[in-house]
Amino acid sequence: MYFLCGYRIFNGTIDEAVNKVMNANDKIHIVSGNPEVLYNGLYNKFIYNNFTSKSSIIIPDGIGVVKPLRLKGHDIQKIAGIDLFIKLLDNLDKKDSVYFLGASDEVLNIFIKNVRKKYKNINIAGYHHGYIDIENCDYIINDIKSKQPTIIFVAMGSPKQEIFITKYMNELPCKIFMGVGGSFDVISETTKRAPLWIINSNLEWLYRILKEPVRIKRFKKNINFIFMCIKDIYISNIRGLHLSNNT
Ligand code: UDP
Repeated sequence: MYFLCGYRIFNGTIDEAVNKVMNANDKIHIVSGNPEVLYNGLYNKFIYNNFTSKSSIIIPDGIGVVKPLRLKGHDIQKIAGIDLFIKLLDNLDKKDSVYFLGASDEVLNIFIKNVRKKYKNINIAGYHHGYIDIENCDYIINDIKSKQPTIIFVAMGSPKQEIFITKYMNELPCKIFMGVGGSFDVISETTKRAPLWIINSNLEWLYRILKEPVRIKRFKKNINFIFMCIKDIYISNIRGLHLSNNT
């Protein structure tokens, strides 16, 4: 694990992440650690406590997290949340059952159809759209409880999905919890992911802003997070200097 802005970041491969999650003994929350999600955590004590607890695994989802860690001298590879989500779907078998919560009704129905077609092995326990009031959603909590899924994927955007998971993680019977942002939109093919060459050039964030200019407002959080990382790198450099002067 590597440390960034107080968070422990997972530093294995995507297959190692799948392994860790599938073999976890206790409940586990997979946090897609992109700058926006981690920034939201820094300003919300409720989710911050969950992100930094033993129940969470934070994956380095984005160049805005990977680059600062590399500047701290760590060798780390990006794991995109959507890639881990797809890998988990690939690795599930009939004994796992899945609940999908999030996106609009229209997107969710296409998504479920696509999942049924592509992942014949997946046992879908239930699903519900994500336009809900997470403070007053007993009917959904009861639906999830009655269906006893082992895994729940929550696609309601950040921080709503992380607040939902933090709030209900203990109460729900699921073992694996993951917030997957706009992944249902991508898998339902109602939104296109960036072409591979853009993803590989670490410019997916720019592609998303150009496609949806309203995202620029949200991008401010990424910039703020980068400033926090610079401060973190500076502090750890100073600490490193102190240690080397004292040895
Ligand atoms: N969404 C939702 N409930 C809400 C707000 C958003 O279910 O109250 C869904 C939205 O329809 C979309 C997803 O959450 O499917 C968020 O997508 P976004 O692109 O914002 O997430 P990102 O991938 O950027 O984290």
